[in-house]
Amino acid sequence: MSEVQSIIRKSLFTESGAVPPPLEAVYARLAALGDSPPAAVDLLADEIRRLDRSYFAENQPEIPDHDYDRLMRALRELERAFPETARPDSPAARVGEKLSGDRQVVAHRVPMLSIENTYSEGELFDYGGKIEKLLPGEKIAWVDELKIDGVAASLLYENGVLTRGVTRGDGIRGDDITDNVRTIRDVPLRLVGEAPETLEVRGEIYMPNSELIRLNLIQAEKGEKPFANTRNLTAGSIKQEDPAVCAARGLRFFAHSVGSTEGLGVSTHFEFMERLRTLGFATSPLMRRLETFADAAAYAREMIDRLHELDFETDGIVLKVDDFGQRARLGSTSKFPRWVIAYKFEKYEAETTVREIRVQVGKTGKVTPVAELDPVAIAGSVVSRASLHNADEIARKDIRVGDRVVVEKAGKIIPHVVRAEPEHRAADSRAYRFPAECPVCGAALVKEEGGILIRCPNVQCPAQLQRRIEFFASKEAMNIDGLGEKAVALLIESGLVNSIVDLYRLRVSDVSRLPRMGKKSAENLIAAIEKSKKAGPARLLNALALRNVGEQTARVLIAKYRSIQNLAAATRDELSTIPDIGGVIAENIADFFADPENTALLDELREFGVKTELTDEPSSEAEGELPLEGKTLVVTGTLTRFSRSEIEELIRQKGGKASKSVSKKTDYVVAGAEAGSKLTAARRLGVPVLTEDEFLALIGDSEGRTGQEEPEPGKLF
Ligand SMILES: [Zn+2]
Repeated sequence: MSEVQSIIRKSLFTESGAVPPPLEAVYARLAALGDSPPAAVDLLADEIRRLDRSYFAENQPEIPDHDYDRLMRALRELERAFPETARPDSPAARVGEKLSGDRQVVAHRVPMLSIENTYSEGELFDYGGKIEKLLPGEKIAWVDELKIDGVAASLLYENGVLTRGVTRGDGIRGDDITDNVRTIRDVPLRLVGEAPETLEVRGEIYMPNSELIRLNLIQAEKGEKPFANTRNLTAGSIKQEDPAVCAARGLRFFAHSVGSTEGLGVSTHFEFMERLRTLGFATSPLMRRLETFADAAAYAREMIDRLHELDFETDGIVLKVDDFGQRARLGSTSKFPRWVIAYKFEKYEAETTVREIRVQVGKTGKVTPVAELDPVAIAGSVVSRASLHNADEIARKDIRVGDRVVVEKAGKIIPHVVRAEPEHRAADSRAYRFPAECPVCGAALVKEEGGILIRCPNVQCPAQLQRRIEFFASKEAMNIDGLGEKAVALLIESGLVNSIVDLYRLRVSDVSRLPRMGKKSAENLIAAIEKSKKAGPARLLNALALRNVGEQTARVLIAKYRSIQNLAAATRDELSTIPDIGGVIAENIADFFADPENTALLDELREFGVKTELTDEPSSEAEGELPLEGKTLVVTGTLTRFSRSEIEELIRQKGGKASKSVSKKTDYVVAGAEAGSKLTAARRLGVPVLTEDEFLALIGDSEGRTGQEEPEPGKLF
């Protein structure tokens, strides 16, 4: 047997002397090559690169890790036996032969400028307005990306081969970390397909949370101190003198921007990112191109709500102008490029212990797991519960009862569990098993949307009934005073209320007989229920809790259809053409009214005198007139009750015009916290400035709004 074939067999074969099934095909191809070291090296290198791509770019491991390691061993052994076949871009170079001792300082070809950032939504909008003013009349598309919390680096490729990796450093010069960058498995050492002559790619070197967990388990086994966080460990690893140490730390890389490039042939950032993926780079998830700044800002908020899904740390959202031509025209200030801003959020972490994992049943039957925690102070408030979102997330993060966990509070979102610390686990710890039955009614739970959404299917489920009635009575719905959590529980327990419509059958004499319910409070409750009949169709529609139909959508729909009966008669196609509605919501609405139980409920409510249509008679919604007719309003600063698009939509619905800039023609400025230049302008021009509450009073909605779909973890049944 030739030496080449002997090395291949020794590397690939298992102890029992057979080639593992996942490697059979590649082994057959290698065997057919006979005694040609360069051909075998090329074949192995190509195969490993292909596997790396499918593993990292498509997130699809094709073969088990230990078989991957066999291929790598074959390649390394061949390169060692035939040194003339070893190339600098060989995947075997990742394992890290030590190149040099000291880090060299290298100048960046194009300076790596830092980017402007803000923690204030108001400033974010001011920035968007400024950019729109600098490019008057132009359509400006944006790209939203996660801001990864790692180490910024620049990678240089010459003729498709990685020749240098440099840290950001001071932006002008950075440390040469080429040897360590080579060890990062999702950094292509050689680009795939046709590569430009020179390509400088910038991105973030980071460590996944799951990798930190793995390393800390090893630390614990060795009796050593756990590493504190991914950010510091990344920074420490990438400057390790010995690349083998860095290689063992499982770093990753997301490409996010262009340094200098010749011959890429792309004119927008979004195209560039697509091109990077075809060249073999990994890019961060959730990235999206948006047509307007308002959309980009709204999507940024959505991304922040989804942080809990990620296996790595982020500290903000980056919004970039998509078009390179527009970027060039915007240019830079003395400090920052103008075309990009980072919208950052305050982020705080604390460690605590999971006492219990409970599931709560929402008003539409959605079952949400919640971690009950040992109370811990985070950023000035005590956190004792954290949403675990869904069964899938618990399994993915392997969060168990009794675990030490890291809990994070970021921005205004509900605290979530970032990761468990399994190195502290007791020997008898068991993986959490999601209940198969509803903890309240015992019905078998059903999985929807590919298992992500778990639901109690029993419409009679007391937990659902409780939450539906609580919601029906809440301020943003029918606004029934005195019908809170306890009163609802009492009415359900006593058997007086089995459905929403039963509320309107209650009599003072029934209610006053209930424990802890005197005659006076019974009278008040019945009066409040009576009053709710006039709440109006938009409130009623919201109160019925159709999936995806919140307060805002309910208003849009009633403004168009004027009654719930008309809405019920609308077809799915017709509904889906309404701006802000779309296919999914149209389907939810059509499904709701197709169910005879729901139409029966509405008929009964109407018989009891509950208002289902807009009339001229005054209601608590002040419907029928448009209080902002002919008025121009500008919104600025951070609002607490509305998102920017919500309040602008509300202004339009109420007959007004939402404008971006303050002028003499502006009738009102609605200012939230941290309002900046627009507030100053309003004061200078003498334009009346309103708080959110004053704005609500102006449009005749003194109750305000909330409208959160996900139940607060604080409100367990
Ligand atoms: Zn149930």
